[in-house]
Amino acid sequence: MEKYKQILVANGIKPTYHRIKILEYLAQNRTHPTADMIYLELFKTVPTLSKTTVYNTMDVLQKHHLVKTLSITETELRYEFQGHPHQHLLCRVCGEIFDVFWDCQRSQLTGIEGHLIESRSCYLKGICRNCLARMKQNDLAKKE
Ligand SMILES: [Zn+2]
Ligand SMILES: [Zn+2]
Repeated sequence: MEKYKQILVANGIKPTYHRIKILEYLAQNRTHPTADMIYLELFKTVPTLSKTTVYNTMDVLQKHHLVKTLSITETELRYEFQGHPHQHLLCRVCGEIFDVFWDCQRSQLTGIEGHLIESRSCYLKGICRNCLARMKQNDLAKKE
């Protein structure tokens, strides 16, 4: 916990027990959880935690750029601890979000002369390798 306490202090954030626990959870679980998911998981070991504390802490961490938000699922905000720059793949079958390495902001764009680009989405969507493997197994099972 000391490591995460120091990160908070270094960023000028008061290192309360709950904030340390939340930051530690995010750093150790690279699953891109929502605030609700963080609350449900942490509540198991930190029963004094409230949903409001999680929401407020996420605001504070975000303001200090310690967490990044993703809107890849379009219906909810997902969080992750700042780490190496990477992009995301959302699996439409299981809903899991995977880290992928792709220099999207700098990759070549052609055929856009004359257009004014105002936003660029670096999200990838598809079916993850775990789901593909499961689907393939189901297919094999059906054939037998
Ligand atoms: Zn999947
Ligand atoms: Zn990520």
